[in-house]
Amino acid sequence: MEQFLIFGNPVSHSKSPIMHNSAFKALGYKGCYGRYKLEDAQELRDKVFELGIKGANITVPHKEYAFKACDELDEFAKKVKSVNTIVRRDNKLYGYNTDAPGFLKALESFGVDGKRVLFLGAGGTAQSTAVILLESGYDVTVSNRSIARLEYFKERGFDTFTYDEFDNSKHFDIVVNMTSAGLKDDSLPAPKSMIDIVISDAKACIDVIYGKETPFLKLSKELGKATKDGSDMLLYQGVLAFEHFTDYKYEYDEILEAMKRGLELSSS
Ligand code: NDP
Repeated sequence: MEQFLIFGNPVSHSKSPIMHNSAFKALGYKGCYGRYKLEDAQELRDKVFELGIKGANITVPHKEYAFKACDELDEFAKKVKSVNTIVRRDNKLYGYNTDAPGFLKALESFGVDGKRVLFLGAGGTAQSTAVILLESGYDVTVSNRSIARLEYFKERGFDTFTYDEFDNSKHFDIVVNMTSAGLKDDSLPAPKSMIDIVISDAKACIDVIYGKETPFLKLSKELGKATKDGSDMLLYQGVLAFEHFTDYKYEYDEILEAMKRGLELSSS
């Protein structure tokens, strides 16, 4: 039996175990997936070897460190410097990023007419996602409460601003909560005065958090906008991670169906 884990802090909310275990069972793969609350990101690499696991997903707040912990990186992970999927092969750690293609697929399936996207938040998930959206023809602006994390985006040519420098002259079509605000608290990702303006002007709002209605999504609905939470992104990034975990043994659609069933069971 191969073991897999999700590392994060917090990690108790994660639906990755139910998704992956459902797919292992449905497809007859001898795998078992659990969760591990990791406080110190620097322990990640040692934990993978110590626990003898075959692979892992990495969630908040360890993705940037996971990038540094790998021996080999695929081209996209190398480019975005953020890893959410690790596979151990021959005592080497291979790193991938499946969040960004997962988000892109969820966004495309949402069918919003418009390409101007505003990110609230500039962490590991925003980093990879901004790059894939840019490569797919979207015009992404990144805002964050503190300035340090905006450097990554400035270097890559994105428009950026801190919440103090807020500017709505672009009239964004889609506003995305890319922060963890609302995950374990009830906070909005940015000052309400700013959020009111950007949401009112937008066509649709997306939150990457799943499993609860965050204050951001609640406000978006109150302002009459089309909304989407992070469930589809979760599903699509999970299918891609599963393909890496099982070395492409299964068809994308059969993994998707099995994972969907797992998610449905967990919310029924
Ligand atoms: P990081 O820890 O790398 O970054 C966190 C970001 O959130 C930073 O920009 C930080 O700003 C900001 N932030 C945190 N708390 C607040 C707050 N109270 N108010 C304003 N800004 C805040 O996290 P990740 O990028 O890895 O993850 C972000 C979110 O994406 C998480 O909620 C995670 O659960 C979700 N996610 C969902 C996935 C899915 O499949 N649906 C997949 C991957 C992630 P600052 O720089 O100022 O600290």
